[in-house]
This record gives sequence, structure tokens and C-alpha cells, in this order.
Amino acid sequence: MTDLPRIPLAGVIGHPVAHSRSPALHGYWLRRYGIKGHYIPLDIGQADLKEALHAMPKLGFVGVNVTIPHKETVLALADVVTDRAALIGAANTLIFRKDGLIHADNTDGAGFMANLRQYAPHWTAQSGPAAVFGAGGAARAVIVALIEVGCPEIRLANRTRPRAESLRNDFGTKLQVYDWVQAANMLEGAALVVNTTSLGMTGKPDFRVPLDALQPGTLVIDLVYTPLATQFLIEAQDRGAHIVDGLGMLLHQAAPGFERWFNHRPEVDDATRAAVLGA
Ligand code: NAP
Repeated sequence: MTDLPRIPLAGVIGHPVAHSRSPALHGYWLRRYGIKGHYIPLDIGQADLKEALHAMPKLGFVGVNVTIPHKETVLALADVVTDRAALIGAANTLIFRKDGLIHADNTDGAGFMANLRQYAPHWTAQSGPAAVFGAGGAARAVIVALIEVGCPEIRLANRTRPRAESLRNDFGTKLQVYDWVQAANMLEGAALVVNTTSLGMTGKPDFRVPLDALQPGTLVIDLVYTPLATQFLIEAQDRGAHIVDGLGMLLHQAAPGFERWFNHRPEVDDATRAAVLGA
């Protein structure tokens, strides 16, 4: 019998995972580039995570994306953790290496920046202070990326203030923590405003902050991408802000994993966006 090469498998592990757009995205890229491979959603509970990760390479998996609630836990289960993932304290991309080691990386910050470069090319780190709402895993990735590009001042507010304080302890004095109830003050003179909370997602309350201090032309980004046009973005646009939705970040954070697993750098363009929206 001829020994046919194994068809590479990849997927997204989470719990729940049915809502994920990643299978539609990677499935589109696989078809577009004519690559033999599959990408599937894998609903894996915390108790089974370790066993599942060790079984996957034997089943033909070359890697997986990681979503809630496993992004932090996988760091302890990986053999090699990139400096970026260690700094953020979470991984979203795993590579099952040929030598049997599990390599963990975090591409959320790079995805955030690539989305900015694509949809707000006029913005630079020197444009002025950034205001970040939320202090979860996504906020950590965004803040690390903003510090890396030289953002001079990052204002931060989180419902649970100690979580924001802990980010300041980790990332230093460029961060200024504001009280959640006074978070609107962060908008005064801000050049960039980012919602990294999960508020505004379908099924959750809207993210509401008084926008009186928002200057026309300010760049406002929502990491939430279901729905695409969140109430926060709609209100910011009504006040003259330049808005960017969260879908572009999702597409860009996915590209490095796809390239590592399937040996092809995918395009993040209008056709990709349309394919994911239409799925
Ligand atoms: P996470 O670690 O669970 O953090 C959730 C954040 O939302 C925390 O700051 C939390 O505040 C805040 N929050 C939740 N419910 C709230 C409420 N009722 N009132 C005020 N704040 C509330 O989640 P994550 O991984 O950072 O993800 C956050 C969001 O970003 C999600 O919507 C996720 O889908 C999105 N995201 C998008 C991309 C993309 O590619 N576009 C990538 C990553 C994440 P507390 O600390 O007070 O609980």
C-alpha cells in the first residue's frame, strides 16, 4: 500500500465553542488556497484539556487556536511559550511541533495592530493617549501591543479595579488607572479609545460610557465583533469618531497560525471578511 501523507488537522478549542467564527475563516482560506486540510470546533471542558492536548498530535492535529476559558490554562500545559504569550499571560495559538513539543503563542496584539494599520492608517502611537476599557486577557494583549509601538500614555478602567491595578503593576507607569464610575474622564484628549470588555456582545448588556468628552476624529475600536456594529461604535460614529470594528482583529490574529499549520500566508482582504460575514 502507498503511504499517503497525512491530511493536516487544526481547530479551535474552547468551552463553549459553537459561536466561534474561526472554523468559517480557516475553512474559507483552506478552500481559497486549495489546501488539503480541515479546521474544526472542539468543545473541550477544563477537566479534559490536558488529555486532549496530548492526544491531538497523535490524531493528526498540527495545532489549534485557543479561546475562552482555556487561554490562560494552556500556558502551563505548553512546553515552549513565546515571550509575548508569557508577558500577556495567555495564549491563543498552539503549534504541535514535529519533535512532540507544544509551542504556545499569542497573536491577539499583532492582530489588533494589523487591524489598525488596515483601517486607520493615519493613527500612530504618537497621536496621543489611549483609553482602554477592560482588563481581561484581550486588554493585556492590546496594552502590550500599545506599549511595544511606543504609545506615550495608556489610560485604563475596569469594573473590578484590582484587575486594572495588577496590569499597571505588570506593565508600568505608562498606565494610569481610572475608576470605572469615572471612566468617561479617560476620553478627554484621547487619540484612541478601545473597548476590550465583553459588554456589547450579542446577549450581553451594551457597553455604555458618556461620550461627551470624545473629540471628533478620535479613533474608536470595539473588540466585540458580534454584532459588527455595536451600540458603542454607533454612538461614537454619531459624534464624529473614526470607528473600527473587531472583525479585522479576529482575521489578522488568525493568519500566523494558519501559516504555521498549513505553510501558506493567507490574505486578510475584503473577500475574507465577506466570507466570514456570510458564513
Ligand atoms: P475576559 O478575560 O473574560 O475579560 C472580560 C472583560 O470584560 C473584563 O475586563 C471584565 O471586567 C469585563 N466585563 C465583563 N462583564 C462586564 C460587565 N457586566 N460590566 C463591566 N465589565 C464587564 O475576556 P477577554 O478574553 O478579555 O475578551 C473580552 C472581549 O474581547 C470579548 O468580547 C471577546 O470576544 C473579545 N475579543 C475579541 C478579539 C478579536 O479578535 N476581535 C480577540 C480577543 C477577544 P471584570 O474584570 O470586572 O470582570
